[in-house]
Amino acid sequence: LKNSSFSIIPIGGVEEIGSNMTIVRTENEDVVIDCGLLFPYEECFDINYLIPDFKFLDPKRVKSLILTHGHEDHIGGIQHFINFFPDATIYLTPFCLNLIQKKLSESKTNFKYVIYNSDSQLIFDTVNIFPIHVNHSIPETHGLVIRDKELNWGALYISDFKVDLHSSHEPPIELEKIKLLLQVCKRTAYFLDSTNIVYDGKTSSENELNLDLTQLINSSQKRIFLTLFASNVHRASYIAQAALNAGRKIVLMGRSVRHYFEAGYNSKIIPLNPENFLEPQAVKDSNEKILVILSGCQGDFLSALRRFSFGEDSNLKPTPDDLIIFSSKVIPGNEKKIYRIYNKLSEFGAEIVSANDALIHSSGHPGKEDIKILIANFKPDFYFPIHGESYLLKKHFEFIKSHYDNIDCRLIYNFHEIKFESSIPKIIKQDKLDPVIIHGKSLEIEKSQISQRRKMATQGTVFISFIKQKQLLKISTIGLPLMVENLLPKLEQKLLHQINNDLQSREDKYFIDQIKISTRQFFNNYLGYKPVTEFHLL
Ligand SMILES: [Zn+2]
Repeated sequence: LKNSSFSIIPIGGVEEIGSNMTIVRTENEDVVIDCGLLFPYEECFDINYLIPDFKFLDPKRVKSLILTHGHEDHIGGIQHFINFFPDATIYLTPFCLNLIQKKLSESKTNFKYVIYNSDSQLIFDTVNIFPIHVNHSIPETHGLVIRDKELNWGALYISDFKVDLHSSHEPPIELEKIKLLLQVCKRTAYFLDSTNIVYDGKTSSENELNLDLTQLINSSQKRIFLTLFASNVHRASYIAQAALNAGRKIVLMGRSVRHYFEAGYNSKIIPLNPENFLEPQAVKDSNEKILVILSGCQGDFLSALRRFSFGEDSNLKPTPDDLIIFSSKVIPGNEKKIYRIYNKLSEFGAEIVSANDALIHSSGHPGKEDIKILIANFKPDFYFPIHGESYLLKKHFEFIKSHYDNIDCRLIYNFHEIKFESSIPKIIKQDKLDPVIIHGKSLEIEKSQISQRRKMATQGTVFISFIKQKQLLKISTIGLPLMVENLLPKLEQKLLHQINNDLQSREDKYFIDQIKISTRQFFNNYLGYKPVTEFHLL
């Protein structure tokens, strides 16, 4: 039994939403599932993103990466992964490959890959992994069934999914296949998505949106601007087709809507070729009936939606003759940014329709009823909530505990190793590594440096140089109130006095420290805070 055992170790995505990465540890290999990024919390101060720390892994054991779907929180760290593990083979679907190739085209990164689909079997030393087609909010999403060769254990791992039995875009989740693969195993476990677990009902089908979306497009005489999560190319394509049917021209505004549209068309997922759509400058001064699809439904600072809503786009500006449709939800944390956009659009007199007004958005994650459908289809022995912040994991755990007496549900977090070697899985806490912070040209930056940046940004900086031989002192500041200019002669006097009376003969380190202390105290007296102080003794 021991030889056939395997472990599952999440190292990202379990206690946060983002940076998903999970290891299937077999005898000789660490099979990696997903390699996502985490968009920064406010305290990270405008850096680009965070990724799991790959130093947890032994490069000799990492030969394979399986990507479950093309969302950034699952593929966003790919460039770093390839740099770290250049010989690993990446298993992915055609759409995901398209997205990654676009992403890596600038850096001309080469990588080995194998295309899989839901009929594939991925064979490793002590486990076989079976991709399962599932519904989500991006095409070609897969869950995985992981089984050891002796069929002692079978685990279903689906980080992102919903049960959509009626989508017109794709087949429903492969429930029957899950049952067939797991029922032959002696023991079974589920690892399932917690993102939408606070929702008591069943997540609506993508199909249920068609009626309201079509009605909005058909009944309006105004220009229409619509924003959505650009990666939902099925919905974007449906909307574009409905607008074409209503005699509208399609305009794409923003890099990411074009990026996903092209990937969707190139991998034959959607029929509409974005080359036939217009650029914003083509409709600048025309009165044509248009539907503009914009990126940036979360109100991001540099997005097309924000630029347009603030009246800052040179081609298209909001007017009272515009209908703005938000076919999206507000991700918690983004409320302020999005309400500013609502306010700006209202000031221009535009009409706004959001998911509060019509059924025009559906989540890609399971509500409680979706989870019940999976368990009714096949009931596992063990259950581990994954993919979600700590609060959601706990809610998910409580839901399973209170509804299913004979499922053994456990709360796990990042760096907990779940070892399937006896009749009960053993949970071992591995040493936790903080996520790596990435900024600029894909470079790592340490936490300590981020805190320096925050201090400089919130308290300003003072630069002082002193040339010993010439007895010359020079002071300049950045980011301090303008009145400080008048204080500088006073500070200069104070420091020169201190140098002449006390510091001249002292060691450099003492010299530098004392000048810094005096400067910070000086400013604290006038400003009520201490700027970052840099002193060069020359
Ligand atoms: Zn996803």
